[in-house]
Amino acid sequence: MEKDAGNTGLNRRDMLRLLGAGAVAAMLPGMLPEAHGAEKSASGQFERAAGPSVIFVVGDGMPTGVVRAMHEVRTGVFGLKDSNLYARLRDPKSSLGYMATASLSSIVTDSAPASAAWSTGVHTINHSLAVLPDGRKLTTIFELLKPRGVATGLVTTTRVTHATPAAWVSHQADRDLEDVIAEEMLAYKPDVLLGGGRKHFDPKKRKDGKDLLAGFAAAGFDVVNDRNALLAAPGQAKPLVGLFSGSHIPYYVDRLNDSNLSGVPSLPEMTAAALRRLAKNPGGFLLQVEAGRIDHASHSNDAWSAIMDTIELDDTLGVIDAFLKVNPRTLVIFTSDHGNSGWGVNGTGPEYNDATKALRSYHAGKASFEATIKRMKGKSAGEIQSLMTEMSGFPISPADADLIVQSMQPDFRSFPGDFIYQPDATMGRILADSAYPKHGAPTVRRGNVGFTSCNHTAEDQLLLVYGHKAKEQGVDRLVENTELFNVMCRAFGVHHVNPTMTLAEARPFLLAKTTDSESLRRHIA
Ligand SMILES: [Zn+2]
Repeated sequence: MEKDAGNTGLNRRDMLRLLGAGAVAAMLPGMLPEAHGAEKSASGQFERAAGPSVIFVVGDGMPTGVVRAMHEVRTGVFGLKDSNLYARLRDPKSSLGYMATASLSSIVTDSAPASAAWSTGVHTINHSLAVLPDGRKLTTIFELLKPRGVATGLVTTTRVTHATPAAWVSHQADRDLEDVIAEEMLAYKPDVLLGGGRKHFDPKKRKDGKDLLAGFAAAGFDVVNDRNALLAAPGQAKPLVGLFSGSHIPYYVDRLNDSNLSGVPSLPEMTAAALRRLAKNPGGFLLQVEAGRIDHASHSNDAWSAIMDTIELDDTLGVIDAFLKVNPRTLVIFTSDHGNSGWGVNGTGPEYNDATKALRSYHAGKASFEATIKRMKGKSAGEIQSLMTEMSGFPISPADADLIVQSMQPDFRSFPGDFIYQPDATMGRILADSAYPKHGAPTVRRGNVGFTSCNHTAEDQLLLVYGHKAKEQGVDRLVENTELFNVMCRAFGVHHVNPTMTLAEARPFLLAKTTDSESLRRHIA
């Protein structure tokens, strides 16, 4: 029996034909998470690309803990034989390495210099995009490729002006200047730009009243603003801009469960559309694909949203696999820019033997903390108890609900450490709390993902490279994040060396820059 694809009028087979990629069930808003599954039959749906291609895939702020949790949920809860990521990690043809993430100014980076390290090959200071602390601009790989006839694309679940996509084209020292970054996007004109962040292009929302989408249209772009429009015109040779949300694209768990969000495309859908467009370019292409909100869910200590957005990223790898089948000269780089929040699956129960069950129990969740908190505003403790129990799928006690109410007060400090997002961190801690008697079943079993803070962390990241000449890239070891710039340059036969600064040289500029405690909070606001 064909499942209807939300309100699009398309059945599952139609979607396969349009999207031409695996894991279609996961692309359809409104379908149950249990329906996820990679469908590999559609590999013929991509055409042969006209030139060489590199796909740079980012799980932003994707801790190694969430990577394993994703695999466990895909196989143990959704019943798949394997995840797309783990299949590639096991493949002897893949190159598997480890990547250092520190910026010029700190062992713990933020997304701006982390992405700029990839796009320019140079370390700069936290909060800065492709620019050195003294103001010298760094030339990005996107800027090097455009005049050589290589197409470029950015796909993300964040605002397209957010730090990770921005660092491929923007030279701002302050990543928060997203209205300005939007103008830099228009000036650069990537061949594909898909994600959220419409408010930075909208004359009604921008302080200067400029209509940047009209600017893209005048420059010959197809401009789309919902899922149907994106899916209706796949594979045109014209450049494409699609902004599907005022701010970030809603979390995957919310798109699956809230029919009001059926007009928002999934990351696999945006990626498939981008690949179709870019593949037409005779000179090849470089596409950055970012699952940008694994990071946000981790900041919020929202384990289930982080797992589900990582599952969506794994579905996206299924789309890329389908593309690779037709286009074996494609090189894929898969990594994360930094860790986040000490995300860890804790051993629970006697001899840790309840840990698997506890992790799997998150799957009853029906909404992100972000969506749940929106509905909590102005509610009583009793109402919050019911709402949280329904949305998280875990029983919440009256005392837990009281604590959530307290944690919504601005001066709330309940536990030590840098748990700055409230009530998020309190909700995360409650959901991770179980009670085990000496013998027998737990009296309370909730999840078991624990967090050390709401902040980024310093651990090195997985670096998976596969596809064309993957083994020849020299990245099957510990490398600096800046090394990926050289990998991309080599793939397109480009040679470029950007200027660098030492930390000693950067220090005066660093001291002059003010950072405030609200800075981190603003990045996901
Ligand atoms: Zn990041």
